[in-house]
Amino acid sequence: MTTHGTDTAVPQLELRDGHQIPQLGFGVFQVPPEDTVATVTAALEVGYRAIDTAAAYGNEAQVGEAIAASGLDRDEVFVTTKLWNDHHGHDAALRALYQSLKRLGLDHVDLYLIHWPVPSQDRYVETWEALCELRSDGRARSIGVSNFTVEHLERIVDATGEVPVLNQIELHPHLQQEELRRYHREHGILTEAWSPLGQGQGLLDDPQIAELASTHGRTPAQVVLRWHIQLGNVVIPKSVTRSRIEENFRIFDFELSDAEMETLRGLDAGRRLGPDPATFG
Ligand code: NAD
Repeated sequence: MTTHGTDTAVPQLELRDGHQIPQLGFGVFQVPPEDTVATVTAALEVGYRAIDTAAAYGNEAQVGEAIAASGLDRDEVFVTTKLWNDHHGHDAALRALYQSLKRLGLDHVDLYLIHWPVPSQDRYVETWEALCELRSDGRARSIGVSNFTVEHLERIVDATGEVPVLNQIELHPHLQQEELRRYHREHGILTEAWSPLGQGQGLLDDPQIAELASTHGRTPAQVVLRWHIQLGNVVIPKSVTRSRIEENFRIFDFELSDAEMETLRGLDAGRRLGPDPATFG
């Protein structure tokens, strides 16, 4: 089944700057540029109204093309992009967003993120100051970070007094990030989960998740996404397969019980699939 238009049941979460973000969005990491227009078009047809891209994904132009061709108003689609590791520093950061906007064919993004802190360069504070300017001049409605640890968050807030609206981090049942999520809650920072399905490898074959899925007449992917939603995370699953794009969208008409949430909590193994932010870059 396909839903068109803005008639979706996706909750909007309030960001600390007063703007809103759809709790479920669509990620396009590793979607090849030649497949991106069709894939994003499918997601928008299904009802997704938030797209997560990045300069590093090499598909911003095609994301912009799909949005332009959708016939949706600009304000109906929440667009996130990210500053790559080779553009840290004040002036480079300003240039990075201008280049992303040019590729996207947009005059602003809804959310601009520092993709990785890259502590070895030690310039993320300066980069964050540039993002604050980009928000002031309207090029980025909201600003946030990705892959920041508590230490990185504390440094940018101490230096500027500006708290990011969200931190996009690797998060799935095998890597539950409880300490970082607690810190986010205490500081009014939303948690956005990348690789929310554990990249589809292993996690979705877990027998306990399979059992919960069969109890609810759902798929393992839907159970995992529902777990994220009930924790209050923003989620951005990726798929290039239309049936899965639809499946991942249908998670708002069932609920996991407290006991089922507890079962999933028991799957935490501190297992990262991606790089460690303390050393990456
Ligand atoms: P994901 O957890 O969303 O997994 C995607 C994979 O899971 C797909 O390629 C497919 O193989 C499988 N899958 C998807 N739907 C399925 C379904 N219904 N049933 C079975 N298998 C299914 O992983 P991801 O793509 O790494 O992460 C999602 C998004 O997060 C990315 O597209 C990107 O936007 C973002 N991301 C950000 C960072 C960062 O550093 N900020 C890093 C990685 C990803």
